[in-house]
Amino acid sequence: MNALLDSHCHLTGYQDPVAVLRQAADASVDVVAVSEDPGEYRLLRARLGRRPGVHPALGMHPLRAHSFTPADLARFLRMLPEAEWIGEIGLDYSPAGRSTRRAQLRIFEAILSDPRTGALPMTVHSRGAEKDTLSRLAQTGAAAAILHWYTGPLTLVDDALAAGLWFSVNPAMTTSVKGRALLDALPPDRILLETDGPFARYGKRPARPADLADVIVHLATRWALTPEHATQQLQSNQQRLLSST
Ligand SMILES: [Zn+2]
Repeated sequence: MNALLDSHCHLTGYQDPVAVLRQAADASVDVVAVSEDPGEYRLLRARLGRRPGVHPALGMHPLRAHSFTPADLARFLRMLPEAEWIGEIGLDYSPAGRSTRRAQLRIFEAILSDPRTGALPMTVHSRGAEKDTLSRLAQTGAAAAILHWYTGPLTLVDDALAAGLWFSVNPAMTTSVKGRALLDALPPDRILLETDGPFARYGKRPARPADLADVIVHLATRWALTPEHATQQLQSNQQRLLSST
């Protein structure tokens, strides 16, 4: 069986990332380990990048835009040739990010305008900035861009699908009213999985990659499929995503 992919996990945020990976391996889950800046990516690669089932992702988080210098962006672009995944990148116009909107746009546009970025799978943050995020991704024709934990208006979902974008679903989304409404609006063949752990929670504890089995059970019920068939659908989605890069 092909492993399932947790396409957005802040692996370095767990107290014991190796234990989290061991559990993930037992549950046949591979992990896309996102980073918030090029320095974190480098550390992540050095410490965990050689373990089977880990895919380090090169990122510049929008909520860190106030602290990024031109040298950070240059470093990001220099590291692109060695990157397998991009993330976390994107825009955030929620109250936490509103004041750095211009800096965020500058960085996001610079990253997307490099043709090497567009050829890689990427996991993208869009909170409160869904319209700008979609338009930038559509303009650059990113081959395999995933909107992670989308919480924007459902009216934009069709535009996102038409632009070829993917959506990743985490355990918290299966229990929220907003998350469930999104799931009803999405075709099963454009969905991937994520945890956003440990920042996203599952019940009272941080979400972990091994929790994806529960997301599958939820999706299977929604799609009126057996969990085995839902798993096959998600595996085929992953393969299509990765073969489009
Ligand atoms: Zn995240």
